[in-house]
Amino acid sequence: MKKKILVLGCTGSIGRQTLDIIRKMDSRFEVCGLSAGSNEEKVAELCSEFNCPGTVFSRDGIEGLEALIKNSGADIAVNGIAGAAGLKPSIFVLESGIDLALANKETVVMAWVLVKETAKKHNANIIPVDSEHSAIFNLTEKIGIENISELIITASGGPFRTLSDDELEKVSVEDALKHPTWSMGQKITIDSATLANKGLEVIEACRLFDFPPEHVSVVVHPQSLIHSLVRTKDGILYAQISNPDMRHPIFGALAWPENSQNYLEKFDLSACGEMTFSPPRFSSFPLLKTAFDCAKKGASYTIAFNAANEAAVQAFLDKKCGFMDISRIVISTLSLDWSFQAASIDEILEADRKARLEAERQLSMLPGGIH
Ligand code: NDP
Ligand code: MG
Repeated sequence: MKKKILVLGCTGSIGRQTLDIIRKMDSRFEVCGLSAGSNEEKVAELCSEFNCPGTVFSRDGIEGLEALIKNSGADIAVNGIAGAAGLKPSIFVLESGIDLALANKETVVMAWVLVKETAKKHNANIIPVDSEHSAIFNLTEKIGIENISELIITASGGPFRTLSDDELEKVSVEDALKHPTWSMGQKITIDSATLANKGLEVIEACRLFDFPPEHVSVVVHPQSLIHSLVRTKDGILYAQISNPDMRHPIFGALAWPENSQNYLEKFDLSACGEMTFSPPRFSSFPLLKTAFDCAKKGASYTIAFNAANEAAVQAFLDKKCGFMDISRIVISTLSLDWSFQAASIDEILEADRKARLEAERQLSMLPGGIH
């Protein structure tokens, strides 16, 4: 029997790579539904190719998405929606008892307790797709989470890894969109340049694997060949290595719990050249430390971190603020009190809204600010 796959965010970087796998492995997988944000034409084209229903958020609203998910009969849903918009769809997937192949890290950062409980209640699994978490997930399955004392997340360091603080103030949107090793959507590409993405991933790792932030660390590895490491209690490190190709973690999630052959190029150790490692430059990329702090504080801090960052990144993409303003806006938004708990979806979205409003207020106060 073919595995039925629902692809949310089918027009994006994760969605397109998921469809590539399904096309090439059509004896194992089939598409049972597709969704995107606003690209009606592309969704119609893909629905006709895969002979399945589809929905577009800007036309059909969240109700359209909910109906698609709940009527899909899927075995697994890939959530490749960008940003906080991915949260409700993740909940609908889990409420339907469908396994969730989760690329949308915001789901975990905003609402982990709710998401985990929903998965448990409806007997659905969450399989990480973010490459670092996919690596750790695979390593924990093989080694046993009880034997692991530390999670070490690798970071490419982004395109500005070696720039001075003065140079960082002046980088353009075009420079920030040139990622050295991964080709991804705009939002996550900017987050990779500020290290906010690594910050979100630290929070994601603490939650997915139930590790305190003190036992999670980040190492810069510009070649992006090692996708993360775990240290066992005896002090030994284990790494997961492959070419930097998101189809590996996507395939891993689609095939889970099987580990099976695929068409992806195998990594050649003898041809890979150097692998280098260095500590992150916390002072030049302040959002990484900020994310660790939010992971420790919990409550609504991680929601505010994510929401303020989304607002600031959008302003940077719209050329309404500078690159280093992104971290200034997020940090000043977090100086408000976020110690209140947000448990329900409405409370979570209210905290998200409050943080966006504050970030926008801060943005409007920048010299030559936005209105
Ligand atoms: P993209 O920007 O390339 O794609 C986003 C997708 O989401 C598009 O299909 C878009 O549709 C859809 N979308 C946007 N807004 C909405 C909305 N309001 N409701 C429903 N659908 C919407 O993003 P990526 O594929 O790069 O990233 C997706 C997620 O995966 C993010 O959370 C990211 O952090 C995570 N991730 C991505 C990686 C990557 O390699 N790209 C790696 C690890 C994690 P439309 O085209 O119509 O706008
Ligand atoms: Mg990642």
